Amino acid sequence: MDLRYSAEYEQFRGELRAFLDKNWTDEDRATLGGEEVLIGSISKPGERVTEFRIAAIEAGYLYRNVPRRWGGGGQPFDPLKSAIIREEFKRVRAPREMVGQGPSMLVFTLLAHGTEEQKERFIRDTLLGRILWCQGYSEPGAGSDLASLRSKAELDGDQWVINGQKTWTSNAAEADWMFALLRSEPDAPKHEGITYMLIDMSTPGIEVRPFRNIVGDSDFSEVFFDNVRVPKDSIVGARGEGWKVSRSTLKYERALIGDTDIARRTFDGMVMMARALERRGKPVIEDPVIRNRLVQLESRLLAAEFHSMRLLTMQARGEEALLAGMVPKLNSTQLSYDLGKAAMDVMGGGGSLAPGEPEAPAMGMFVTAYLWSLGVLIAGGTANIQRNIIAERGLGMPRDPVQKR
Ligand SMILES: Cc1cc2nc3c(=O)[nH]c(=O)nc-3n(C[C@H](O)[C@H](O)[C@H](O)COP(=O)(O)OP(=O)(O)OC[C@H]3O[C@@H](n4cnc5c(N)ncnc54)[C@H](O)[C@@H]3O)c2cc1C
Repeated sequence: MDLRYSAEYEQFRGELRAFLDKNWTDEDRATLGGEEVLIGSISKPGERVTEFRIAAIEAGYLYRNVPRRWGGGGQPFDPLKSAIIREEFKRVRAPREMVGQGPSMLVFTLLAHGTEEQKERFIRDTLLGRILWCQGYSEPGAGSDLASLRSKAELDGDQWVINGQKTWTSNAAEADWMFALLRSEPDAPKHEGITYMLIDMSTPGIEVRPFRNIVGDSDFSEVFFDNVRVPKDSIVGARGEGWKVSRSTLKYERALIGDTDIARRTFDGMVMMARALERRGKPVIEDPVIRNRLVQLESRLLAAEFHSMRLLTMQARGEEALLAGMVPKLNSTQLSYDLGKAAMDVMGGGGSLAPGEPEAPAMGMFVTAYLWSLGVLIAGGTANIQRNIIAERGLGMPRDPVQKR
């Protein structure tokens, strides 16, 4: 396998490096380059970061596939250039594209289904992190079987009146807007009576109740709607066709969750810690049982990384990923879970000490990674649901009777 880029792409890399040298200084890197890169900030960025992002968009390096008129880089699709941009931005810890449900999911939904006014009003500010979004899909009793959702929207003159409850809504407490699925046609079959709506979170009648997750943060909330009135034109796509619209958004959510960066960081961190323990006289990598486990995990990690390169090659050739594209979410989240668990075992007795405990190895990073991995196995469609998707759509097996109803 030859993993080198052609001369044309290396020239592109050279131009990109010159851009980064000029626009993202060593001082920027030292003062601002941490969190943005490592956890992909979803909070509102500071002025300097936004200034850099605007320059990078204008140069065609960020949001390449979003048209210029809506605030993107307006470049032709070229997955190899996108891969080089990711490598180079990461190398100098420059702010990459905003992550989160707005830029990574909603923007593509609006591009496909939004009105001109919606694109004009939301896309640019969402890409720059000036508008933060949350995703109001799940409800008590409607998670995997999402189409069972019951929160309703009724048309009253030129307004929709919304009542009901959403749950597990990530970032609801910080979000300016929510994109939500609501039942607008109570008598239609369950997949056909749903409408996709944009809701200003400051509208009277919305109550956000954060709850603590297993890591101890309050990242998600329950959201209650009590006669919340939003304008008639708040819907994306046609009335009653929200299910179809939401499918395009979920595809991007799975891509967002499916990369191998977190698994790689956990693995490298675990090996680094294991070496440090060995220097202090505790045999870790030398222990044959642990060594065997590490080798198995690294093999799976390398397979996942090579699979990403395979997908990149397919994209570059214009081939549809099909089955190959359905695997990464399940694979990488399961791997992160197994890695987090192994890391706690490798650290020995102190491995499960929580962050904040003075004795916790790596400041409790591995416990946090493990506990987070439980969440990402579920978010964006559970591992079981991913298996169903692979079996039914990828391998052509009969449909799951529960989802078919
Ligand atoms: C970290 C995190 C962030 C989240 N953020 C958001 C968000 O921002 N917005 C939002 O709307 N939602 C969010 N969610 C909710 C998430 O989408 C749901 O938790 C998920 O879809 C599962 O639904 P559920 O929790 O109701 O579990 P259930 O659907 O009740 O599933 C329970 C168990 O049954 C299994 N199961 C269910 N149906 C089947 C089936 N047909 N075949 C095989 N097994 C099945 C599942 O795999 C699971 O193990 C988030 C969840 C997490 C963990």
